[in-house]
Amino acid sequence: MQNTDSDIARAGEILRGGGLVAIPTETVYGLAANALDGTAVAKIFRAKGRPQDNPLIVHISHLNQWERLVSEIPENAAALAKAFWPGPLTIILPKSDIIPDEVSAGLDTVAVRFPSMRTTRKIIDAAGVPLAAPSANLSGSPSPTCARHTMEDMRGRIDAVLDGGECNFGVESTVVTLAGPVPRLLRPGAVTPDELREVLGGLEIDDAVMGKLKEGVKAASPGMKYKHYSPKAEITIVRGTLVDFLKYIGKAGDCGEPNGKKFALCFDGEESVIPVNCVTYGKKDDPLTQSHRLFTALRELDERGAERVFARCPSTDGVGMAVYNRLLRAAGFSVVNANETEE
Ligand code: AMP
Ligand code: MG
Repeated sequence: MQNTDSDIARAGEILRGGGLVAIPTETVYGLAANALDGTAVAKIFRAKGRPQDNPLIVHISHLNQWERLVSEIPENAAALAKAFWPGPLTIILPKSDIIPDEVSAGLDTVAVRFPSMRTTRKIIDAAGVPLAAPSANLSGSPSPTCARHTMEDMRGRIDAVLDGGECNFGVESTVVTLAGPVPRLLRPGAVTPDELREVLGGLEIDDAVMGKLKEGVKAASPGMKYKHYSPKAEITIVRGTLVDFLKYIGKAGDCGEPNGKKFALCFDGEESVIPVNCVTYGKKDDPLTQSHRLFTALRELDERGAERVFARCPSTDGVGMAVYNRLLRAAGFSVVNANETEE
């Protein structure tokens, strides 16, 4: 369906009736169900093939809907909401009794977001209930950033997809937990650590954000422990300059990979000097263009039959941290410094 008022009203009816609708947001497409109905929420896990221990984010359309979802709203949470809501920030707090176990996956906390995209808020209003909505991809594949990608993954598994065009930001929300002793970043997104620190004072960055969790360490954000966002190809992130990159892929070419299946995931404009197939993911010094393109680029690699991919490494500053975090998972944590051996 499109995003006319009557389509939005119909989506609201389906959601109220316990169905599943994929919806656009400013981050990625979400797979939505009534967050207060455990049976409806359980269908999300089945449609996505999502591990049962991975909790969902609850989406609201007015600030006053937050209060009944959590046990209380501390001052620092209210300050974050004032600074960044509506927008791509998810805040975790101890949950209230109305949150079904299916949403929190057995944890005693709940993640809440107030999205900025008008269509998303209209759909929540039309449903008349808060919506649990993880990204609308099959578990493990790149998050969808347009209706076509959503259909590719969800056809035959859900009741409807509402087409609201391309997602503006393109990677998932920043997730911060205020349920522990110190505010902690669990997932980087469009709202950066520096912006959060300005409001919160202190902020810890969870170990899972920039690297792989060590064996046996419990993930603070269950979603971060899974291999994620992965196309079929084997990806390696290559740290270094463009010149280092060219040298590195030249050498890697000698290892016998057939050139037709070998790809570079590079920045705009670099295609002309890279002697293998290229898929671009934004401008080198502009992380917002990278976040907008990344998941589409990962899907494009699959569509073009890529088997081996060497990726240019983004800067990890600001919004770049979100881009690097997703690319790192897509690469199964395979990173090399050009001129050195694989880690
Ligand atoms: P997605 O819905 O695909 O954007 O994934 C939601 C992310 O938020 C996953 O990484 C979850 O593990 C994380 N998350 C949701 N609720 C909680 C919670 N209560 N505590 C910790 N992490 C959460
Ligand atoms: Mg997801």
